[in-house]
Amino acid sequence: METTKKDIRALTKEQLREFFVAQGDKDFRGNQVYEWLWNKGAHKFEDMTNISKETRLMLEDNFVINHIEVDQMQRSNDGTIKNAVRLHDGLIVESVLIPTKKRTTACVSSQVGCSLDCKFCATSRLKRMRNLNPDEIFDQVVAIDKQSRLYFNKPLTNIVFMGMGEPLMNYNNVLKAIDKITSPEGLGMSPKRIVVSTSGVPKMIKKMADDEVKFGLAVSLHSAIDEIRTSIMPFNATFPLADLREALEHWYAKTKNLITYEYVVWDGINDTKKDVEALIEFCRFAPSKVNLIEYNPIDDGEFQQADNAAIDMYISMLEANNITVTVRRSRGKDIDAACGQLANKS
Ligand code: SAH
Repeated sequence: METTKKDIRALTKEQLREFFVAQGDKDFRGNQVYEWLWNKGAHKFEDMTNISKETRLMLEDNFVINHIEVDQMQRSNDGTIKNAVRLHDGLIVESVLIPTKKRTTACVSSQVGCSLDCKFCATSRLKRMRNLNPDEIFDQVVAIDKQSRLYFNKPLTNIVFMGMGEPLMNYNNVLKAIDKITSPEGLGMSPKRIVVSTSGVPKMIKKMADDEVKFGLAVSLHSAIDEIRTSIMPFNATFPLADLREALEHWYAKTKNLITYEYVVWDGINDTKKDVEALIEFCRFAPSKVNLIEYNPIDDGEFQQADNAAIDMYISMLEANNITVTVRRSRGKDIDAACGQLANKS
């Protein structure tokens, strides 16, 4: 139902404390409610059992707790779980749980749709509808943590911002969500277990460095040659590689955090020796490693994964230049839960 009441999770802890004081109550009541919201994941005021009934009713008169619902859950043969998540206004985003022997990783969305136009990514075909609020990002993590405990008997270990959307175009909310995820009053997870993946927005990479964030950075590079990168990621015309490189140098100087370049090798697009040489050159500017990702087809059209010989050439040339390279196999392909396949299909 439409409501004009304010979402209580839009308030900071300080604002909550002030609200209670203004109501003639004690400021620590704000701390208690904050803990219910961000540490215990309460979705209803009536769940807040150490708060008096009178106060709970008063909260209900003033606020709502908007929260996500897992609308549909699909399990892949490899254990990957894809969730279609319904937001309070009915829009849908997707969040994925990726289990491996050692970890369970949540792949979360930061926007409904995406404003970028990467030609190989299914999400780019959905118009960007809106940014997710911090609580909507946070709730995805809580929901996946629950699934991890339920289906794999262990808490969530890692979080990657590789779902729908461009996290750096929703920077403030992403940062607020990460703050709740990492603070001891929230979920208390280590920022070292979080990776934010970006298509490469130079100004925001610099800002992130200046803000001295503690989480990891991945950049979806896919080509270190401007002309080719622009042809597959057209926004590269606005944010060319020279600007990206400068921002990444700044990132490393400030954070001393290694950068991961995500890279898909496609047949006839970036599968020549010249492409690898450009990548090697790009890797020299700041300590980095390359993650070769398997391509997940989004249609039967122009993009085809390059053959093994091309991948092997990348690996051997990178390694010969002392650049760490990992090859990531796709998970959850059978349910369209793999990278770049998130498009609300099911
Ligand atoms: N906008 C962010 C995060 C979302 S995409 C970013 O661009 O990094 C997450 C990762 O999946 C990116 O590295 C992206 O380049 C990659 N990706 C997109 N479509 C893909 C596809 N069809 N197959 C494999 N990887 C894809």
